[in-house]
Amino acid sequence: MHVKYTSIWSCGAEINSTAEYDPITGELDVEISNSMPDDSSILKREYITLPDEEEIEVCTDCHAFTMGVVVGDNADFSYGQTSVCRNPDCDSNS
Ligand SMILES: [Zn+2]
Repeated sequence: MHVKYTSIWSCGAEINSTAEYDPITGELDVEISNSMPDDSSILKREYITLPDEEEIEVCTDCHAFTMGVVVGDNADFSYGQTSVCRNPDCDSNS
């Protein structure tokens, strides 16, 4: 699936690119954009926009998979929705 990819940086830059997205596995293949923010800028958020305008968060650790929403017990013992990376090998899941 062809989707729009957007990254938001701490300097205020918003960089748009395109990506190939597999909604079954959550895997993302982002086309590298020519424009990059300042070296000191920190990535704040990245997400894709589906053809029906739905926005899905992208993992800021591996940048290669979207986040899935899981309902259950959180690490702080509260109960509710948490976002987890759909990449089983991602550092954010360990
Ligand atoms: Zn990840």
